[in-house]
Amino acid sequence: MADLARELAARIAAEGPMRLDAWMAACNAAYYAARDPFGAAGDFVTAPEISQMFGELVGGWIGDLWVRAGKPPARLVELGPGRGTLMADAQRVLARLPGFADAVPLALVETSPGLRAAQATRLAADWFDRVEDIPDDRPLIVIANEFFDALPIRQFDGQGGERGVGLNFAPVVLPAQGTIAGEVCEAGAAIMAHLADRLRRHGGAVLAVDYGYAETTALDSLQALRHHSVADPFANPGESDLTAHVDFSALARAAGDLRVSGPVPQGVWLARLGIEARAAQLRNGTTPATAAGIAAALVRLTAPTQMGNLFKAMAVTHPAWPVPAGFAA
Ligand code: SAH
Repeated sequence: MADLARELAARIAAEGPMRLDAWMAACNAAYYAARDPFGAAGDFVTAPEISQMFGELVGGWIGDLWVRAGKPPARLVELGPGRGTLMADAQRVLARLPGFADAVPLALVETSPGLRAAQATRLAADWFDRVEDIPDDRPLIVIANEFFDALPIRQFDGQGGERGVGLNFAPVVLPAQGTIAGEVCEAGAAIMAHLADRLRRHGGAVLAVDYGYAETTALDSLQALRHHSVADPFANPGESDLTAHVDFSALARAAGDLRVSGPVPQGVWLARLGIEARAAQLRNGTTPATAAGIAAALVRLTAPTQMGNLFKAMAVTHPAWPVPAGFAA
């Protein structure tokens, strides 16, 4: 048995069943600390790892928002930057925007030491464990791609019970308050509420792109991925990536009185940001094989049957800030 499995088994034997959120937090902390999970040799592939177009368009989104906000001193923040690919692609675009680099330093929120090291090879930034630790002195422009889906959830059955993990990692029902059935991501709501509080005082924006739903419907969206295949979330703790669909309506509620734009389907959002034109530009003058790869990436990111519909973009902004690109006013 691996170390984490032994540790969790001992904890359950001593203290009784664990709540699902505690299980998910322990598994994912170990999972991300120990490996680079991205890409063909890993467990899953994210949008920025599919194509440079994704990070470039996010870079354009950031620069456009900052210019229309009046080019204020601000801080660019990314939550859970993975390999740093999205931000490296974004910064290539932002480097062409006069004044941006000097006015807007980069802060990365990352708990995994291994991924921090990977990010440091590509990005000049300050690193923080939690959003609370970021200096609180200026507007924030916060980017979160496939971050909220990795945060721990609770699952309620609506009949006074919630999901727990017992001996031999078997599912158990723990007593819970309330009669609402469904999933709740308290950690995600707390992070959004904290960022919203800062936006209220200093201005700025939060962009969340993730797989999930616009209304609260999922009863069990917990998923484990290992080597690009679905795995059992309660077998081999720390060896697979645990995620759940993001409840965008809950994130919007956590933003309180701020302006919420979207969620809009990722395919629609990327089309509005000009992904077709960027793909055409990149295809121009390349080999047929490269051009085919770019066309395939475009389909993968935007087609409704691929990432285009399930993934969604939502922005939270201070009402005095402009409506961000890709969202109808
Ligand atoms: N945004 C990247 C990576 C997504 S995977 C991409 O799109 O490719 C999730 C990322 O969030 C990883 O970098 C992981 O280490 C980080 N992470 C997960 N839980 C976290 C937490 N509670 N606090 C900070 N970072 C976390």
